[in-house]
Amino acid sequence: MSTRFDSRNAETICAHLGDDPAQHNGAVITPIYQNSLFVMETMEELVSNYSPAPGTHGPVGGMMRRFDYTRTANPTTDVAEKKIAALEHGELARCFSSGMGAISAAIMSTLKAGDHVVTIHSVYSPTHQFLTDYLRRYGITVTFVTGGTVSDFEPALQQNTRLIDLESPSSFVMTQQDLAGIAQLAKAADIATICDNSWASPLYQQPLDFGIDLVVHSATKYLGGHSDIVAGVVVGHTDRMQKLIRGEGVLLGAVLDPFSGWLLTRGIRTLPVRLAEHCRSAGTIAQRLFEHNAVEKVYYPGMPDDPQAEITAKQLHGRSGLLSFQLKTSDLGAAYKLVNSLRYYGIGYSWGGFESLALARRVPGELFGANEADRVLIRLHIGLENVEDLWQDLDCAIAGV
Ligand SMILES: *Cc1c(COP(=O)(O)O)cnc(C)c1O
Repeated sequence: MSTRFDSRNAETICAHLGDDPAQHNGAVITPIYQNSLFVMETMEELVSNYSPAPGTHGPVGGMMRRFDYTRTANPTTDVAEKKIAALEHGELARCFSSGMGAISAAIMSTLKAGDHVVTIHSVYSPTHQFLTDYLRRYGITVTFVTGGTVSDFEPALQQNTRLIDLESPSSFVMTQQDLAGIAQLAKAADIATICDNSWASPLYQQPLDFGIDLVVHSATKYLGGHSDIVAGVVVGHTDRMQKLIRGEGVLLGAVLDPFSGWLLTRGIRTLPVRLAEHCRSAGTIAQRLFEHNAVEKVYYPGMPDDPQAEITAKQLHGRSGLLSFQLKTSDLGAAYKLVNSLRYYGIGYSWGGFESLALARRVPGELFGANEADRVLIRLHIGLENVEDLWQDLDCAIAGV
């Protein structure tokens, strides 16, 4: 099946790319290769495994002749990697044991001691912490910008800037960055670019097409989709990815276990239908919140008052289920009370699964721009439950405050 595969359509990629029943007794699902080691027939085979004959199609984009050890690569996880690489319009993808495993590997693959990074205030907070607290001990410095326009980035660049780290849309206030404009600015100064694409998933945005060097995902979110795995992935073109796989991938060893790799592939097979439903339901909820007289503002790309409408139209071809809103009251207690009274929404930090979630937080003003005041936001993940159940629950909770 895979040898005859030439579709570029996401639904067909999710269903079939990378699967090869003929290799596995006709099994329609690639089995779980739950083994550390793959043995060879001869010593010659063993020692030549990393010098593949030119033009051959071995594992990890032909970097090797055969699978040898699961820290290097595993046939079960390889299926997920092939699907994700194709969905992102990249050449190679590498799975990690968490989103943070993928993000830290991607960041480290671009930096050395003494380098400088530019990122956005609203970047995922463990990424923020890794860039500041952790990388400080390697002499790496960071500048944070609001990031809504390319001109936010220009004054932040220094002689030693080697990375611009992006997250578009960001996952609390859903602000976007102009990927093509930033990639162009970065390339001219030999600066690498990374974009966390977890919000849009590879279905609704392909940052590599805009010139971004590496895309990272928390595959714990939409790619897995069932809140039953923790996983991450980095995607890019061959040169950068080969270096990252050999270095941060194989050496640092935050490898995805085969069972999680298998569950990840299972999640990806239904990604198009799940995302379509998240998009439809979240669109309905967002519009009703927008029209609600107790609501000050909805943070979700593509709303009628979208301050970044041009970027939304250029970069996103769909919206996922994660949105935030702000009540007219800025009382954190009222926001907590609202979240506590929801019946169908779990209270928790994650998102991207089948289930609806909610939480409230005071968000620092700097995420919105210079001289902006703090705002109290309620973040919702709209899951796959009945949308009228979700709306009634929310409407009732709003009325209660
Ligand atoms: C959850 C998340 C991560 C981290 O992923 P883990 O799988 O929890 O390590 C990174 N970026 C974003 C935007 C996330 O939401």
